[in-house]
Amino acid sequence: MTIDLKTLTISKVREMFAKGTLTSVELVQAYLDQINLKDKDINAFREVFGDALEQAKAADDLRKSNSTEVNSMSLLGIPFAIKDNMVIEGKRAGASSKILENYISAYDATVISKLKKAGAIFIGRLNMDEFAMGGSTENSAYGVVKNPNDLSRVAGGSSGGSAASVAVNEALVSLGSDTGGSIRQPSSYCGVVGLKPTYGRVSRHGLMAMGSSLDVIGPIAKTVEEVEEIFNVISGQDRYDATTLSDENVKNAIEKSSNINLEKLRVGIVPELMNMGGINPDVLKNLNDGVEKLRSAGVEIKEVSLPHIKYSLAVYYVLMPAEVSSNMARFDSIKYGGKVEGKDLLGDYLNTRGELLGKEVRRRIILGTYVLSSGYHDAYYNKANIVRDLIAEDFKKAYEQVDVILTPTAPSPAFKIGQNTSDPIQMYLEDIFTVTANLIGIPAITIPSGYIEIDEASDGVSDGSLGEKIKLPLGVQFMAPLCREDVLFAIGKKFTTMIKG
Ligand code: GLN
Repeated sequence: MTIDLKTLTISKVREMFAKGTLTSVELVQAYLDQINLKDKDINAFREVFGDALEQAKAADDLRKSNSTEVNSMSLLGIPFAIKDNMVIEGKRAGASSKILENYISAYDATVISKLKKAGAIFIGRLNMDEFAMGGSTENSAYGVVKNPNDLSRVAGGSSGGSAASVAVNEALVSLGSDTGGSIRQPSSYCGVVGLKPTYGRVSRHGLMAMGSSLDVIGPIAKTVEEVEEIFNVISGQDRYDATTLSDENVKNAIEKSSNINLEKLRVGIVPELMNMGGINPDVLKNLNDGVEKLRSAGVEIKEVSLPHIKYSLAVYYVLMPAEVSSNMARFDSIKYGGKVEGKDLLGDYLNTRGELLGKEVRRRIILGTYVLSSGYHDAYYNKANIVRDLIAEDFKKAYEQVDVILTPTAPSPAFKIGQNTSDPIQMYLEDIFTVTANLIGIPAITIPSGYIEIDEASDGVSDGSLGEKIKLPLGVQFMAPLCREDVLFAIGKKFTTMIKG
């Protein structure tokens, strides 16, 4: 039987399972075939799990058994692929780092146990930037993930494998993690939907920490509906993560924005962000086209001011490395992972961390140690925290006038492999639109907003000259107030229909 993987969604699969026209084994086999066909080029998978078909068979058997347990398993037999920084019991997880090459997890991350409870199965783990530090997967110790739309370009990062695998139909849906844009930017580069939930709505237990006040796990899929469904399964308070929000916390947050009418959303745009320079003109045009379409569909568009947002990137690149430097201290060659012997204890540390951690991870440890060191702590770390609060205040004021804020997801389409590797600042600038949501904890989603045609000879800007043209996807980002993922799903669905229509 041939399955049209391109148009397959969770709900279609569920329907076919119920009708008996598809089994989980057939579905997983179709993905394994596609991985065999495509992944030599794409490099999205770090590993395809040897027991994927067995898991599928167990799900099929359970469905046939008519046990009452099945009624509460909304994702029974639905295959997921998981970013390599979330742990699954008995499976390797390595955050695409040499230092964790042989690490096998003894437990399930909370998101995994929630998905298992819903009946989901796991087909493999996905390539990423080492410890999620990067925006192109060029920092993976296992090679770059290529963009399915053009193999000479990056898929984005750090969840490049999570976005590319869904885009090229090697996976139905996946999980990624987002510290400063790592779900949204690769999703926009690959033309799929990616959600960064509110900080604390999804447990981080079993996620390898990067920046603990910024990290959040979220879903990537082809449609908003699927992302919404997965979010509903993986979210909730968790006793293993003290920063997760209780139902009471969520209710209180929602009350603060209770004036929002999902049928009549007011969308904010931010001229000072758009006029900042450095944004690809095609990206700006795409955003403006999107705004016009929203307007003609009767959506109210308002300009809002976020005076401190221009400092977001600087604040992020002070706070994030500070947290990275402390989180990475656990990789000391004794408790976890690989070890390269030295002549004494210090030698063990130096050799292990020097040889088994990549250059970007080491750069961030050094930066973070510097901004936290005595004498610089006040000048950098404390000041960045003050500005973080000012940015949050700006958003609070803006949300008095609008319900959701619209920006491009990234300032450019997927760039060429190697284009930004020699210039970390250029690479960091790619995160300009995404880091703010992490700094202030609000939820954000990226929605495909069409394609741009690029002249293969140029490096990003379509100049209309003759030559081979390639089509690259773009995405727009919507940011909602705390705990208002429902607003993102509503506007995301509306926007998708408009773009397609
Ligand atoms: N690209 C950003 C960085 O390099 C974001 C990474 C992430 O969200 N994990 O820090």
